[in-house]
Amino acid sequence: MYPDPNSSSQKMYDRALASLPGGNTRTTVFMKPYPIYAARGEGCRVWDLDGNVYIDCINNFTSQIHGHAHPALIKAATAQLALGSAFGLPTASEVDLAELLASRLPSVDQVRFANSGTEAVMMALKAARAHTGRPKIAKCEGAYHGSYDYAEVSLDPTPEAWGRNAPVSVAYAKGTPDNVLADVVTIPFNDTEAAVSLIREHGRELACVLVDPMPNRAGLAPADRAYLEALRKVTREVGALLIFDEVITFRLGYRGAQGIWNIDPDLTTLGKIIGGGFPVGAIGGRRDVMAVFDPRPGKPALPHGGTFSANPVTMRAGIAAMELLDDAAFARLDTMGEAVRSGINEAFRRHGVPGGTVGLGSLLKIHFADRLVRDYRSAYLSEEEARRQTVFSRALLNRGVLAAGNGLMALSTPMTDADIHAIIDAASGALEEVAG
Ligand code: PLP
Repeated sequence: MYPDPNSSSQKMYDRALASLPGGNTRTTVFMKPYPIYAARGEGCRVWDLDGNVYIDCINNFTSQIHGHAHPALIKAATAQLALGSAFGLPTASEVDLAELLASRLPSVDQVRFANSGTEAVMMALKAARAHTGRPKIAKCEGAYHGSYDYAEVSLDPTPEAWGRNAPVSVAYAKGTPDNVLADVVTIPFNDTEAAVSLIREHGRELACVLVDPMPNRAGLAPADRAYLEALRKVTREVGALLIFDEVITFRLGYRGAQGIWNIDPDLTTLGKIIGGGFPVGAIGGRRDVMAVFDPRPGKPALPHGGTFSANPVTMRAGIAAMELLDDAAFARLDTMGEAVRSGINEAFRRHGVPGGTVGLGSLLKIHFADRLVRDYRSAYLSEEEARRQTVFSRALLNRGVLAAGNGLMALSTPMTDADIHAIIDAASGALEEVAG
């Protein structure tokens, strides 16, 4: 049972406290009183240091769409390892993966690889500035796009800082320069009128509008079609680029979220699943915009290196991961996602707990909010709702299912019908505990 002061994870955490700040390497994996340390993973399961086994619905915050240690990915990565893991030369693998991604995304002519989603977003924003010659970016309140200063503005404003009429740009990290805040226009997610009016107001200075069509930290509610269509239209009107951050949503379908909504952004940022379990990021987009990276003129408009960018092990594993994701794989992920969402919604009703699930495809988020969740503010938890979420997360963990602390769950292709039932049963038991 978690927490257990005698567990190996607790002991490892005690050790980690000496060499890592707060014993931690990634803020996102921190857990009180101590995080569970993974020993190994296989298929949709993870074992901790004490030998406890869990069905993994964290899946490394959505990157592990094929779960852990998938034989095809091991084969692709080890074959490349035997040939060398990194060169100061380009390899055929980056051409192969770029072609594959461009063939799936009609809005993407060309691709640039990076090492993380954070870096992909940073380079996309810089590309938009280099292409338009304009300084400002617009992004949605509460939306997470990694740790680039500009991209993390207004990630978690408290209600006191919400601003009376429109969202305001609020620092997320201490030390964010005021200049950064001045160059970020924060728009509300899923409020078409307010977003369009803010974009028009700053139009001449805006390099781009950055939007995640189903932003996890802002609640994981899918964007209204009208909202995305309006962003597409108004960005053209003011001459700014539209950037879709599909670092997570690319796992929603063969052509990602843009295929589902049928909207072509100017640039797309990718990461997570396209690396087959290895660190990765990518920027894709229209040829004329991607030209900012072209080194042929001598010095490119936007120089971008990266010792491990387009690393061949990542590229080969990424190609193998993407090839496994055909229409049938997405159809199965959709069916499993639908089953988990409706099973958990039904459990909420049965146990009389206010809340339910949102999400699409293989992604869902559990909310303890007794209202329609469609943006950051409606997803914002009261103290009591946050308490219920904590009780739920721990109860789920102790029933052998891992979910992110904020209720995000990501399914994977190795899951069977029995696993799906086990996830729903565990969630139902955890909700019974919440109902208490
Ligand atoms: N964009 C989105 C939508 C994300 O969810 C994330 C990470 O979760 C990022 C960007 C940053 O990606 P990375 O963690 O690979 O830097």
